[in-house]
Amino acid sequence: MSLKERIELVEDRIQAACKRSGRNRDDVNIVAVTKYVSADMTRSVLEEGILHIGENRPQTAVPKWEALGGQGIWHFIGHLQSNKAKDVVGRFQYVHSLDRLSLAKELEKRAAALDQTVSAFLQVNVSGEASKQGVAPEEAAAFLRETADLTHVKIIGLMTMAPIVDDPELARPVFRRLRELRDELNARGGLWGPLTELSMGMSGDFEVAIEEGATWVRLGTLLVGKGEET
Ligand SMILES: *Cc1c(COP(=O)(O)O)cnc(C)c1O
Repeated sequence: MSLKERIELVEDRIQAACKRSGRNRDDVNIVAVTKYVSADMTRSVLEEGILHIGENRPQTAVPKWEALGGQGIWHFIGHLQSNKAKDVVGRFQYVHSLDRLSLAKELEKRAAALDQTVSAFLQVNVSGEASKQGVAPEEAAAFLRETADLTHVKIIGLMTMAPIVDDPELARPVFRRLRELRDELNARGGLWGPLTELSMGMSGDFEVAIEEGATWVRLGTLLVGKGEET
């Protein structure tokens, strides 16, 4: 299947999921996760009109970013070591994987030095799996309170990774819980900025995530492939 065909197929499925759940297609954004593919393939993705590029490792993302001259809007989606924050700030406008205070402070420092703003998602470990990064749902409010006065890191929403399961329906409670948590945090109001965004859903479960309120889906395998083909 060509990239164009893949994009059309994904688009049809996104539209159907929006329709089923009474959502507006414009409220769902696609991050094309290019971690498996080359800079050339990433360029093709941009040429097809997908602007948002997701990468999970600074070591491979930075050379790709350089090869593309920074075209596109870059999203860092993987676990980020604090000593790599300097490679991310200035290149990536979004960080989906903010999972600890020390990282928030490091991003703040680096972004302030460049006079830039990083839009971040607080990663929440809804499923409670030991292998997953993120704060526990009950820790989210304290995290937001402690980061509310950062001026160069703006937390715009929540992100989660669902367990990898064969049946995407099994991920639904995880996505639903993230949406409910966002709504609960917003209802407390005033202490932190509004959380408008939900980054949830990957190739295997994005339709369920959209039905549960995702505003960003992160699509690698299904959308851009795994690299053996273009
Ligand atoms: C790799 C990755 C994705 C995309 O996964 P696919 O199943 O290939 O769509 C999404 N989010 C994160 C955090 C990832 O690391």
